Amino acid sequence: MENKNSFDQWPISKEIITAIKDKGWSSPTDIQNDSITFALNGTDLLAQAKTGSGKTVAFGIPAIDRCIEDKSIQILILTPTRELASQVSEELNWLKGTKRIEIDAFYGGVGIEPQIKKIENGIEIIVGTPGRIIDLIRRNVLDISKLKMLILDEADRMLDMGFFPDVQWIISKSNDERQTLLFSATFPQEILDLSGEMMNEPEHVLTSEFEVEIPDISQKYSRIGRINKSWALSNIIFDFNFQGQVLVFCNTKRMVEMLEQRFSKVIKDKNISSLQGDMSQSAREKVMTKFKSGNIDLLISTDVAARGLHVDGVNLVVNYDLPNAVDSYVHRIGRTGRMGNFGVAWSLVSSEEMGMVSILKNVHGLDINEYEIPENNDEKSQYFSRKKDWNEHSNLFGMVCLSIDVGLNEGINHQKLFDWIKGLIRISDLAIGSISINESVSKIEIHQSKVDYVIGAIEKNKDLGRIVDVAVV
Ligand code: AMP
Repeated sequence: MENKNSFDQWPISKEIITAIKDKGWSSPTDIQNDSITFALNGTDLLAQAKTGSGKTVAFGIPAIDRCIEDKSIQILILTPTRELASQVSEELNWLKGTKRIEIDAFYGGVGIEPQIKKIENGIEIIVGTPGRIIDLIRRNVLDISKLKMLILDEADRMLDMGFFPDVQWIISKSNDERQTLLFSATFPQEILDLSGEMMNEPEHVLTSEFEVEIPDISQKYSRIGRINKSWALSNIIFDFNFQGQVLVFCNTKRMVEMLEQRFSKVIKDKNISSLQGDMSQSAREKVMTKFKSGNIDLLISTDVAARGLHVDGVNLVVNYDLPNAVDSYVHRIGRTGRMGNFGVAWSLVSSEEMGMVSILKNVHGLDINEYEIPENNDEKSQYFSRKKDWNEHSNLFGMVCLSIDVGLNEGINHQKLFDWIKGLIRISDLAIGSISINESVSKIEIHQSKVDYVIGAIEKNKDLGRIVDVAVV
């Protein structure tokens, strides 16, 4: 009974134990082991929850266990997105087993009347997004002044989305005696500050307060210019051969739409779909349900789907665009490799995005390594051909370094080289970058937009009495 590696270690409701047994789970995950023990003692909790680590059940068990069947609202769980709210609610609904409590997700974008009805009919646990919860409180339908527990899920995401003032307002409407649990993948200062304000000597379930936690997956990146990203994506996908579902992230809705159209034209025998914030709530839910049940092979999405998406079949995540924030990267790649499955996260990185790669590697110590795009002879992937793109060879400022086999020993110096290039083609001074010259070789930076012209002109020129060799460094 007291085995630390089983759910029986805790004196929790029989209904929950039975539900977990029926589900076939044998042992709690690490976050569950630590969080449940503390939470059942009544302590506040600040927990670092790795994506896919089982955090929902880590707070779900103490929440359901604390509830009594009396139709009064006892637990409020705040989540950043509608998708996450409904996933959490779904998970808690099976977890409660035969316990007769009501648990439901309340979010915006759908009618408020049915939600009001449900509250009036009596509900014990509400999972909601901040906007809709505020609305319900303002209408005097929802009273959270007698909560037993308040849970913030993915607090860092709420912070990113600008929900913190809303969260603080909601907290101000609840009672001080409640227990508070806060789950987050990362801990920016604002979250630590908020936890100081809203929690009472919380226990910490952290690996390290500022460490970024990532699932056990292989992280790859390839330097590739914008115009060749579709080619790269198709090669990666065909090389992967759909051994599991594929999830592709773009930074904009427009790019999601374009990619879906492009790939649907080529890949006819797979189900391809997309998910982005402009779609109606019901359209989004339809896609999520199809994806979860394995009926979509390739899903192209903005960050909307990045959080909390419970899909264990994703084995490949591709960042078509690299996100601008580290935690968004962590959450995106966390959609693969869930619950110990193998996973690959592959980022397509243009030269402008290289700065972010070095932040991921050097500031956060992520193990992300450069790989060549796989060559692919599959005829479908030939639909996208690789175009010459100097962006792939340029630095952050768009400059490409050329090496020319003339140097000091032929009387070349900085000014002469500069004037020579300017005499060959029409090129603005700004398109010429740094120049270095040694005995027999000169190096000169040229803006990517002019590289073809410069190389062409140098290769034809005979000013030096011979054809000079030019190469990209
Ligand atoms: P979460 O981190 O809450 O998003 O959970 C990730 C996935 O792991 C979900 O599909 C859960 O149902 C599943 N899961 C959570 N805890 C366990 C466990 N102890 N054993 C097996 N699966 C689990």
